[in-house]
Amino acid sequence: MPAWLDEGYAHIWLPYTQMQTTPPPLPVARTEGSRIHLADGRVLVDGIASWWTACHGYNHPAIRAAVERQLTLMPHVMFGGLVHEPALRLAARLANLLPSGLSRVFFSDSGSVAVEVALKMATQYWLNRGERGRTKFLAFTGGYHGDTTGAMSVSDPAEGMHKLFAGLLPHHHIVDLPRDAARAAAFEQTLERHAGELAGIIVEPLVQGAGGMLFHDASVLRRLRAAADRYGLLLIFDEIFTGFGRTGAMFACGDVPPDIVTLSKALTGGTLPLAATVASERVFNAFLSDDPEKALMHGPTFMANPLACAAANASLDLFESEPRLAQATALGAQLESGLAPCRGLAGVVDVRVTGAIGVVELGKINDLVALKKRFVEAGVWIRPFGNIVYLTPALNMAVDDAGLLTQAVVKVLSD
Ligand SMILES: *Cc1c(COP(=O)(O)O)cnc(C)c1O
Repeated sequence: MPAWLDEGYAHIWLPYTQMQTTPPPLPVARTEGSRIHLADGRVLVDGIASWWTACHGYNHPAIRAAVERQLTLMPHVMFGGLVHEPALRLAARLANLLPSGLSRVFFSDSGSVAVEVALKMATQYWLNRGERGRTKFLAFTGGYHGDTTGAMSVSDPAEGMHKLFAGLLPHHHIVDLPRDAARAAAFEQTLERHAGELAGIIVEPLVQGAGGMLFHDASVLRRLRAAADRYGLLLIFDEIFTGFGRTGAMFACGDVPPDIVTLSKALTGGTLPLAATVASERVFNAFLSDDPEKALMHGPTFMANPLACAAANASLDLFESEPRLAQATALGAQLESGLAPCRGLAGVVDVRVTGAIGVVELGKINDLVALKKRFVEAGVWIRPFGNIVYLTPALNMAVDDAGLLTQAVVKVLSD
């Protein structure tokens, strides 16, 4: 064991971890491509790309070079009253990639904060137009939008931390996605009853990630767009998980344009923390005024960090110069065939794949800690949660490595 582990472990607090009972985490020495090199010399094939961020694999030389160049010029400068090329180039490129109309980029440093900014944008949009009382959002069961207070309050109440923090969280309206006639009727009823107090609707398009890797199709998004239009509400797509190729397209929204979109996770190719909240001109225009109080009232200290923006620009270069989306689709086909044998296994209730996301849903996982350990022993880094075992590898993962991942899932779940 490295000395830093002994000295530091008594002082660290880990995420979502019962520190009394959970076995100590694995010390990592370095990463490379799709591999995590542990301090004890073992090497794991990474099945989840560090919470879905490392879409080109780790330490991509092009991203590293871009960050090194930027580090020499300027690691950081405040973004109030000052701007810089990496951020403005990135803003223009994101606006070009997103559906037309989404044209104003507000940077922050994590996905949760990008969601907070989206909620504040939508709320202040109405205030600036002189409509008070529109402070509620319509959100969906199975949804996950982050761990900060506002983001938690629009996440699934049962899955998320709602129960623990009920006294702290503002109340919003949370219903099932309108994926069939009965749910559509309930959705419409909630809208009809509460539209006057709503600022907007927030959803993860096509895939609800941390809430259970649940898929829906574009017809649900079209229904949400139509409903938002009917009541004049803002539609927010949280693409923090789905953005940058994960669903096989650059963005999951397809031909359904939201009014606001949030991006993070794979934005810098997993290199540095960065997030963006991108708004339409309609939203942006509501903030234009002679009145300084109508300005958007948000500004993270490390907003638009130049190193992170340089990494994001280099990541977008890779999407342009390499066939990343085709690779994502091919990887999805491999996940589909590789995970198919799980369908017959005891305890498996569903196997589903969309884009480069492969999911094996179990009836129940009795011992999550033991299951995680089995995957490490099998030489792979896979982090089941709830009743879900899932794979979201680097989009350019080699065929052999993806094979190792699916074989490990089949083997561990068979035993
Ligand atoms: C991860 C995630 C977030 C939160 O992002 P953080 O960077 O962890 O704050 C929000 N929304 C979705 C859809 C996510 O997957």
